[in-house]
Amino acid sequence: MGEFEGRVAIVTGSTSGIGEATARSLVATGAKVVVNSSSSIEAGEVLASELGTSACYHRADVSSEEECTGLVDAALEAFGRLDILVNNAGYTQVIPHRDLDAVTEEVFRRIMDVNVFGTWYLSRAAVPALKASGDGNIINITSIAGLIAGGSCIPYAVSKAGLNHLTRLMANVLGPEIRVNAVAPGLVETPWTETWDALHAAVADRAPLGRSGTSEDCGEAVLGILRAGYQTGDVVVVDGGLTLGAIG
Ligand code: NAD
Repeated sequence: MGEFEGRVAIVTGSTSGIGEATARSLVATGAKVVVNSSSSIEAGEVLASELGTSACYHRADVSSEEECTGLVDAALEAFGRLDILVNNAGYTQVIPHRDLDAVTEEVFRRIMDVNVFGTWYLSRAAVPALKASGDGNIINITSIAGLIAGGSCIPYAVSKAGLNHLTRLMANVLGPEIRVNAVAPGLVETPWTETWDALHAAVADRAPLGRSGTSEDCGEAVLGILRAGYQTGDVVVVDGGLTLGAIG
């Protein structure tokens, strides 16, 4: 028996990067997973078929409340229950923080729609099934950009700060049936950051652990939270020590 045999998870944005690694980790421990994305449909179908009977793919844009409801329904239809929701799908644009005029209302709204409203819609839609699970878990993939004054652009950092607090606020009201936690990665090697060579070099130089994170590092943190049954409302930083800011 795998450690999470019998559990069913939705991992949003799981066709690449952190979401894909998390979906693979969950399946490796015996869980069943609904793979999701809004646009990379073929990659999702290929991953789900590689994972066999432990996975299915469901396309949904998390910024649509209706599609979030459809995603929860798809999990219940495919596997009959829902125990774990990993809100990983995210959106950003790279905009220097000093360039306030480059932040259009359209960009700000899209970032909030996907990152904040997406997590809110899907979490709310999943609550009844997660309560019925008896051991429900919501894990939000946020960012250290929500903790320090950094990140790819100001709206992204604002959205991730909002998610860190949403994590605490929902944890406060959803126990004891549901635990709510966040994983806040530093810089991670994924398709999202594949052209950010200078930043990867800077992190390798500055972080105590001497490298950027991997998607698997983040998947491990998700499994760690699932194992830690008395942990809720926590934001687990996975950044190789980057934000310690230590000198010496
Ligand atoms: P990625 O580009 O590899 O994956 C993003 C996934 O989200 C893809 O599967 C994409 O299809 C999906 N997606 C995008 N918009 C969506 C939507 N509206 N609905 C459903 N799915 C959608 O990127 P990644 O680096 O693995 O990022 C995953 C998460 O990790 C994001 O929330 C990101 O903010 C967070 N994060 C990443 C880093 C990093 O350095 N890579 C650091 C901190 C936090």
